Amino acid sequence: QTTPATTATIVRLLREDLRGRTAYGAPQLDVPVALNTNENSYAVPAPVVEEIVAAVRAAAGGLNRYPDREFTALRGDLAAYLSRSGTPVTPEQVWAGNGSNEVLLHLLQAFGGPGRTALGFTPAYSMHPIITATTGTSWVDGLRGGEAGSGGAGSGAAFDLTAESAARQAAEHDPHVVFLCSPNNPTGTALGLDVVEAVHEAAPRAVVVVDEAYEEFARPGTPSALTLLEGRPRLVVTRTMSKAFAFAGGRLGYLAADPALVDALRLVRMPYHLSTPTQVIARAALAHVDTMLGTVDVIKEQRDRIVTELGRLGLDPVPSDANFVLFGGLRDAAVTWRTLLDAGVLVRDVGIPHYLRVTAGTPEETTAFLEAVAALPPDHH
Ligand code: PMP
Repeated sequence: QTTPATTATIVRLLREDLRGRTAYGAPQLDVPVALNTNENSYAVPAPVVEEIVAAVRAAAGGLNRYPDREFTALRGDLAAYLSRSGTPVTPEQVWAGNGSNEVLLHLLQAFGGPGRTALGFTPAYSMHPIITATTGTSWVDGLRGGEAGSGGAGSGAAFDLTAESAARQAAEHDPHVVFLCSPNNPTGTALGLDVVEAVHEAAPRAVVVVDEAYEEFARPGTPSALTLLEGRPRLVVTRTMSKAFAFAGGRLGYLAADPALVDALRLVRMPYHLSTPTQVIARAALAHVDTMLGTVDVIKEQRDRIVTELGRLGLDPVPSDANFVLFGGLRDAAVTWRTLLDAGVLVRDVGIPHYLRVTAGTPEETTAFLEAVAALPPDHH
């Protein structure tokens, strides 16, 4: 059992720039309907479970040896998957880590660091500034919503990011790393490629990272930044198997970029960072891409249903290209969060006043969520 005195000692030993910070902490509560971390609600399909178990069994005897440090076979599989988009991606363009969070960490370790700056456009993925801080990189909070966050009212206009605004902010701060998140978490909408192009041009010394964790859920007409990689060695597209692939527990994130940039990441990764089980289970899943992605369409339907129904209930949902919906119009988001939790539905309070975020799960989970919202006392919105 620790004491206040020991805590104080540890705080004195801690890096000055980490003192007073709080750890990332989406609640992991045991509730009937958990719609708070944008996981895929569907279990890994049974035939793929069998292949995963067989792959681990086959690899288990070799666990006395370190894994392939360069995860060559897995890189090939990830490159083949990305190439299905129509943009050819080679294995040399691919890097992977234990979740895309680790891939983002590698990028900051290599291209950020003390004396360097990373720019993001808030509200965006909360881990971008946290990972930035852990590497001693300075964080600059860029703004969404056109003119310095003024934004229009309703349907998420306050969260739009135009090419002009993003480029102006990138030029002003001249960062070493820029984060763009498309589709954006927590707001849900994808960015036009014009924003990516404009930021890339306006920040000539920056590695520009487009976090596409939710890309597979995007509505038609929102192309991936993969199509911009050719001729842009400072551009990086990160992806994950945690969302559309229903593989969050497998911890496999990856990126595509120029082979020279990928090669630089080998300077900062720990040797053998991807364990043998991680590599073999990810490969087993990637051998069944269509099965693993089989739930994407039903999740998109539930997402669209949430947007429509919340609008009907008098709330203000933001159009979404992801597997979640941000909705506004709440008097007190924290109070509504608690009321929904008491009804067995866990959503996410992302810290935006009057807004909450809900993950699109199964039709049954969506129904439970919508019924809980419909049952809210009228003074909630
Ligand atoms: N990027 C975004 C935008 C996310 O929302 C998440 C997960 N919530 C991640 C990256 C990280 O996911 P993982 O580490 O599981 O790949």
